[in-house]
Amino acid sequence: MASGKGAFTFLKNADSKLYEILMREVSREDYTLELIASENFVSYPILEMAGGVMTNKYAEGYPGARYYGGCEHVDEAENLARDRAKQLFNCEYVNVQPHSGSQANMAALMTFIKVGDTIMGLDLAHGGHLTHGSPVNFSGKLYNVVSYQVSRETGRVDFTEVRKLAKEHKPKLVICGGSAYPRHIEFEQFREIADEIGAFLMADIAHPAGLVATGLHPSPMPYCDVVTTTTHKTLRGPRGGMIMMGKDVENPWGVVAPKSGRTKMVSELLNSTVMPGIQGGPLMHIIAAKAVAFGEALEPKFKLYTQEVVNNAQAMADALLSKDYQLVSGGTDTHVILIDLTNKDVTGKAAEKALEKAGITVNKNMVPFDQRSPFITSGMRVGTPAITTRGMGKDEMNRIVDLIDDVVADVENAATIKRVKAEVKVLCESFPLYQELHN
Ligand SMILES: *Cc1c(COP(=O)(O)O)cnc(C)c1O
Repeated sequence: MASGKGAFTFLKNADSKLYEILMREVSREDYTLELIASENFVSYPILEMAGGVMTNKYAEGYPGARYYGGCEHVDEAENLARDRAKQLFNCEYVNVQPHSGSQANMAALMTFIKVGDTIMGLDLAHGGHLTHGSPVNFSGKLYNVVSYQVSRETGRVDFTEVRKLAKEHKPKLVICGGSAYPRHIEFEQFREIADEIGAFLMADIAHPAGLVATGLHPSPMPYCDVVTTTTHKTLRGPRGGMIMMGKDVENPWGVVAPKSGRTKMVSELLNSTVMPGIQGGPLMHIIAAKAVAFGEALEPKFKLYTQEVVNNAQAMADALLSKDYQLVSGGTDTHVILIDLTNKDVTGKAAEKALEKAGITVNKNMVPFDQRSPFITSGMRVGTPAITTRGMGKDEMNRIVDLIDDVVADVENAATIKRVKAEVKVLCESFPLYQELHN
C-alpha cells in the first residue's frame, strides 16, 4: 500500500522520520499474517474519518448539552453513532464515548458498585480480561475479587463452581465474557445465578461484538444489566469502547436529580461516570469513525463477513485438530482458538517468537491450569477476524495451519522460518490491503 502516489506526501515532507516509521508499519501489515484474535483492519473510509479534522474539536458533554461551542457537527456524528449502535445491538441506551474497552468497564463498574464491593469475573489465566479483577488492574485494586474458572474437562465456564462461589461470597456484580474464551458466552446461565444472589450482571462482549451484532452469537441484552464492548475487534471499527443497556431503568440506589427530586435513570448515572467521572473531552474523530463502522456493520455484507470469520475459525480449528494440536474446549464457536501447546513440547513464548520471525503474528496465552508464568505460557491464541477481512477463506486457513505447524515443529530451524516467511509474503500479496492507496 506504500506505493500510492499521493499517499502521505505531506507527512513525508514534514517529518520524514515518522513517515518512514509509518511506511514500515504499512508494510508489516501488508506482508504478515495477522492472527491476533483482537485485531482487525478497518475500512479506508473509517481510516479517513479517524484521521480527520474532528480530532481538533473539544466537545465535553453529550450531544445538545456540551460545555463548548461549535459542536453542531460533532453532535450530528455522535447522534448517528448512538442511533446506529442502538439499531445494531437492539438496545435502548448506548454511550459511545469511552476511549477504550477498559474505560468502558471502569465506567460500568464505578456506576453499579462501590469501591470495596465484591465482584466476580473470569480468571485471567482462564480467558478473562485484566479489567475483570486482575490484581495489577484498577479492578483488582478497587474491588474485592472472586475469580471463577473453566472446568478442566470441558474448557468451558464451570457453572457448578460459579454458583458455589456466588452463594459463598455474594458478589454485588458478576462479569461474564473474556478475551480468550472460544465459546459463546452463557448469558442466560449467568443471569440465573446473578438472580439467585441479587447481583448485577455485566457482559463484556469486547471480543464477539461483531458476531453479536449479526446474530451469530447470542445477545446479552435480554439478560444483562449493562453491556460493555470495544469497537475495534470483530466489530471492525476504530479503536475504542462503548457501554450499552438493553433497557434503561430508574436507578436502584435512590439517586435523585437535585432540584426536581426525580429518580435518575441508570443511563444518566453511566453518562456522568464516563464524563466528568473518568474522562474529559471525547475523541470526536473516533466517535465519528465509530458511526461509519456501525453503518458498515448494518449492511448485509457485514453479516456475510462475520459468518466467514466463524467458518474460517472452524476450518482452522479442524485443521489444527487433524495435526494433533490440543484446543481448549475442543474447538470454537467464535473467531477465537486457544491452542494448548503442551503436547508439542514448545512454550507459547517460543512459538510466538518463531512465528513472528516467519511473518505470522499470534500471541502467547495462558491456558487454563497453566503451569507456566504469563511471560512464558503453554499456549497461544489465534483468531480469524483480520485475515478474513483480507478476503482469505478455507483454503488459506488450511495453508496457514500447515505453515504454523512447520514453524512450531522446529522453532529453532532458521531455514524453515525463512521459507515460511517467503510463503507468507506470497499469500499476503494475493490478498492486498487498502487498495485505495494503490492508485
Ligand atoms: C480487549 C478487551 C478489553 C479492553 O479493551 P482495550 O480497548 O484494550 O482497553 C476489555 N475486555 C475484554 C474482554 C477484552 O477482550
